[in-house]
Order: sequence, then structure tokens, then C-alpha cells
Amino acid sequence: MSTPINPPRVRGACPGALVPMAVADGLLVRLRIPGGRLPGPMVAAICGLAERYGNGLVDLSQRANLQIRGVTEAALPALTDALRELGLVNGEPAAERVRNVLCSPTCGLDPACAPVRPLAQALDAALADSPDLWAALPAKFSFVLNGGGQAPLADTVADVRFDALPGTGLFRVAVGGDQPGATPLGVCTADAVVNTALTLARAYVRLSNGRYRRLAALVAAEGTAGLATRVALAPMPLDTGLPGLRLEQVLGAHAGWVGLGFPFGGMSVQWLALVAHMTPALRLTPWRTVLLEGGGSDLVEIFQPTGLFILAPEDPRLALSACSGRGACDSGLTDARGDALALARVAPRLLARGHIHVSACAKGCAHPASALVTLTARGDQAYDVSLLAPAGGAAQWRGVTAARATSLVAALEAVYTHRMRADEDPAALITRLGGPAEVAALVEATIVA
Ligand code: SF4
Repeated sequence: MSTPINPPRVRGACPGALVPMAVADGLLVRLRIPGGRLPGPMVAAICGLAERYGNGLVDLSQRANLQIRGVTEAALPALTDALRELGLVNGEPAAERVRNVLCSPTCGLDPACAPVRPLAQALDAALADSPDLWAALPAKFSFVLNGGGQAPLADTVADVRFDALPGTGLFRVAVGGDQPGATPLGVCTADAVVNTALTLARAYVRLSNGRYRRLAALVAAEGTAGLATRVALAPMPLDTGLPGLRLEQVLGAHAGWVGLGFPFGGMSVQWLALVAHMTPALRLTPWRTVLLEGGGSDLVEIFQPTGLFILAPEDPRLALSACSGRGACDSGLTDARGDALALARVAPRLLARGHIHVSACAKGCAHPASALVTLTARGDQAYDVSLLAPAGGAAQWRGVTAARATSLVAALEAVYTHRMRADEDPAALITRLGGPAEVAALVEATIVA
């Protein structure tokens, strides 16, 4: 018998496997993986399901969840049953929405990373077993367990975070932010992490009483005194010495793993299945990257020539956004990702300091904010091209072909290269030269010359 499925959530809500989200290319089914580790055969099984029931695309969320895309309403019950058989679906939709626990993906691979994965799994199980929190916590309320080491979870925002203090066996407990921005409350031992997390979540529910959507807002309005009286924490040491994250610490070959990024954070199931066969297990990260356990430079030599993966932090594709586009989304008018990759080949300097976005319709799903350059598809399979604007914003060129858009971006690269002042980024250059209209004229002149 098929599993009953809850109605899909609307866009902007927090989806799961039991409550998928309706997005432009169908239903998005988000899998929360406690501890973020998936054995290779499990990855291969998920790829098979994504191919059978979805549109063949899988992507990574910024919370290290795996997302199956393009699922139809008709296919959803069978997919959910199959995921349940794999042990990837929690029994309660209400519990699933609060199981937002992220831990360091390098735990067990990097000797300098504290053993946070068992703590994350224990916290995940405790949340699933806490029905008083299921409806009371906001869906995006999240926990981070940062073990530190070579690739710390420093830049990931959380409501409640535990940052390992190197060489002490202790954790700094902080609320409402990333590692540098969160408000510290004190220090606890590893044994106290799960109880402290649950106590702070319950304290937030009582103190907020529905008035503040996130813990950071509660702390900004009322301070930390109400939270501090509910948890027994040791005072903070003066200098915690917590390091930050740089992508070179993650991507490429490292002692315990190979870090692979995927253009646009998404991948075809064929390639992900191939990767899964080359490693005992994958680690999911919030950096739109997976880590292959074990790894080694021989794997990098295999992946490098394919050009499909991002293996170095200077790869210009890291600064590209594009939605799934024509074929994957009913509203898609163009091959946004293919056209975006053509831009990356002609604009390495622009992408080193700015962001380029290609949208297959005016909705701009992949990057709602302004970008240095935005291509917005029109009904006639051509693009409007904008500088310093979001998708659908004021355009300097209207209805150009993808090839013409690539020429314009190449000319903008030349303008930037020849006119930039020391350490000036492209957006600052456009502003200094008078704005998008003036720079568009320079770009045209460059093409003519
Ligand atoms: S922006 Fe892309 S994914 Fe979003 S609705 Fe338009 S075509 Fe679909």
C-alpha cells in the first residue's frame, strides 16, 4: 500500500521527503541525512530513484541536504515508499521539518576535527523524539555542530551552534549566526551538547511566544539573559582561536578526501552514480560540494579532464548561477546552464570578482538578487542582458541571441581588463564609469573596434 503524502508546500517553505515543495520544475523532495554521510551504494540507489521518478537532476542544498528534482504528483507515493525502504524517510512529517542538524563533513576524515557526527545523529534522533518541538519550532530553526579542523563549519548560519574549541574537548555554545557573528553563551562538554541544544530550543519557544521567527531576532530584541538562566554553561575562555573556512581547504585532493563541486550545485544522476562507485561513502556539505572518503590525487586525475567537476577555488563556475532551464522546467525558454557555461569561458576576470546569472525566464529562481551581469530569457528564445540588476530588471540589451550575449560579456571582460584600477571590482568600475548605460556604450564600442 502506498504511503499517504502530505500536500506539497508552497515555494519558500521548508520541504522534506514527506512534504515536498512545488517548484518550477515539479516537486522537490529534500532528503535530510543525519550526520551527512551516505555510503556509495545508497547514493547509487537514490540516483536510480531520481532517474525513475524525477527529472534526472539531483542537487545539494545549502544545509547539506540532497534534493531530488522534477518529481510528479503521480510518482510521489512510489518514490516515498522506496525512500522509506532505504531508511531515508522519518515516520512523521511534523518531525522531519525540525530535523535541521548540520555537522562538520570532515568528521572522521580530518584528525583535527572533533567527533561531532555521533552528536549530530543523537541530536537528530532526539528532535525526532520531541513532539513538543515539532509544531513549536519554526521550520528553518537549525543547529550546527562544528568540529573545527581543516574545513570548519564557520560560515554556516544556525540558530544554535556548537563550535569545538581546539584541544579542549569542549564546545563554545552560541546562538543566532555564523561562527564569527553568533552570540556566545558559554562552554559545554560533548556529553552536554544534545541536552543543551534541546534546552535552548525549548527556551526559544517559551521566550519568543510566537513573536520572533528566529533565535537571532529574539536575542537582538531581548538579549541572552533569558536563555542563559535556562542552561548551565561554563564561562567562555578569553581567546577561542576559532579559524574560518576557505574553499581551498575543501576542494581537490586532501589527506582524507577529495572535494568535488558541481556547477550550479546540481548534477545529473548518471554522474553522481559514477562518483558514488569510486568511494566508500560521500559526505554532503553546505558548500554545494561533496567529499569522497579516502580520495587521493589519482581520483582528481580522473575527474579533471572531464571538466564536469569543480576541483579548485579559482574555478570561474563557482561565480555562475543558472536555473535548470528548458527541458527541466516548464517555464524554461532557454538552455540557461549551457549558455552560462559559455559565458564562463570568456569572462574569467569578471567571475573572479563578480557574479553572472542566466535565467531561463523572468522569475530568476537561481539567484533572486542583482548580479554583475544577468541574462533573462525572453519568449523568443533570446535574452535581455542587464548590468547590476536582477532577472527581469532594467536591461541594456534586449532580445539578443545567446551567441551575441556571449560576445557582449567578452567585451565587458575586455573593458574591465583595460580600465580597472588597482584592486577595483567590476561593479565598482561600472559605477565609476557612470553606470550601466555608459558602460554598455563602451562595450558596444569595444565590439565594433
Ligand atoms: S527561473 Fe528557471 S527554474 Fe525558475 S521558473 Fe523560470 S525557467 Fe523555471
